[in-house]
Amino acid sequence: MPALPLDLIPHRRYNPLLREWVLVSPQRTQRPWQGETTAPSTAPALAYDPACYLCPGNARSGGARNPAYAGVFAFDNDFPALLASAPQPTIPTPSPLLLAEPERGLCRVLCFHPNHSLTLARMAVPDIVRVVDAWAAETAAFGDLPWINHVQIFENRGAMMGASNPHPHCQIWATEHIPDLPLRELAAQQSYHEEHHTCLLCDYLAAELAPALAIPESPDAPSRIVVQNDLFVALVPFWATWPFETLVLPRRHIGSLADLTSAERTALAAILKAVTTRYDNLFLTSFPYTMGFHQRPTHGQAHDSMHLHAHFLPPLLRSAEIRKFMVGFEMLAMPQRDLTPETTAARLRALPDKHYAE
Ligand SMILES: [Zn+2]
Ligand SMILES: [Zn+2]
Ligand SMILES: [Zn+2]
Repeated sequence: MPALPLDLIPHRRYNPLLREWVLVSPQRTQRPWQGETTAPSTAPALAYDPACYLCPGNARSGGARNPAYAGVFAFDNDFPALLASAPQPTIPTPSPLLLAEPERGLCRVLCFHPNHSLTLARMAVPDIVRVVDAWAAETAAFGDLPWINHVQIFENRGAMMGASNPHPHCQIWATEHIPDLPLRELAAQQSYHEEHHTCLLCDYLAAELAPALAIPESPDAPSRIVVQNDLFVALVPFWATWPFETLVLPRRHIGSLADLTSAERTALAAILKAVTTRYDNLFLTSFPYTMGFHQRPTHGQAHDSMHLHAHFLPPLLRSAEIRKFMVGFEMLAMPQRDLTPETTAARLRALPDKHYAE
């Protein structure tokens, strides 16, 4: 297969989920730079931290005390960004340009594991299955609240991403309105479905898995698949903006974590472990990222066009310390990257399944 000219020339790629473009400048990767010199960093040794507000049995600053939990543990955020009881009358404003609305919501925290030192990459797959089960249960529980329309599950991993506590956990913010990014993706998937009578992400996944693009023997071939199993695929999307961004997709057209079968929960857990292990192995560090799921709205219309997926959005570029910044042209014009998604997918794909610290 001839090399894609896309690996040589500046070009822009279309993101059909957000309906925006990303500028790719592969010719700039020929710029000289000094290679990675980072020594492997080791995970925090403490399995229990008496000062951690998420460890089992510890007091939280809101006054509550965590139970001596053995698996996952979810609780209402002591300092929530949203409240269930926000007043509902329209907020009067003197101009239509000064628009504000009440927003109700609920914020939960989900501890993945009692062991303070673990991460998804270091957890056993059966333990990650319990996390997936909890995501599904939280999604279903929020879906039973008629005034909740969107459930946003997200994990901030690492101090570089602003995570204040290394204890393995995520947050779940459920909101009355569908926030802008999932709303844009939902609209894109709906209009694609109306035009083509098929699912945008089902079609995208089929294109990525097409024989001509299937994982080839040559590491230079333009596959964007990082890792796959029978039920899930993780890939660097064609339109990725972060250097090592990945998209995790179920092979089956499914709209919600709550609809995952038992086999799919295990397969998702395995894919999450495989992706995060490769991330850690890339720069021999506990790889920082924001990860989160987009799923169908919990209330209202059927939204059959929505295909469940997870985004991993990691900031690192060249080493454990050297990150990509979205600044300058990116803050004022459009996102831009130098390494092509094919290059970063090949690097992640080539890494071992076994964690460097094991
Ligand atoms: Zn802890
Ligand atoms: Zn689909
Ligand atoms: Zn999405």
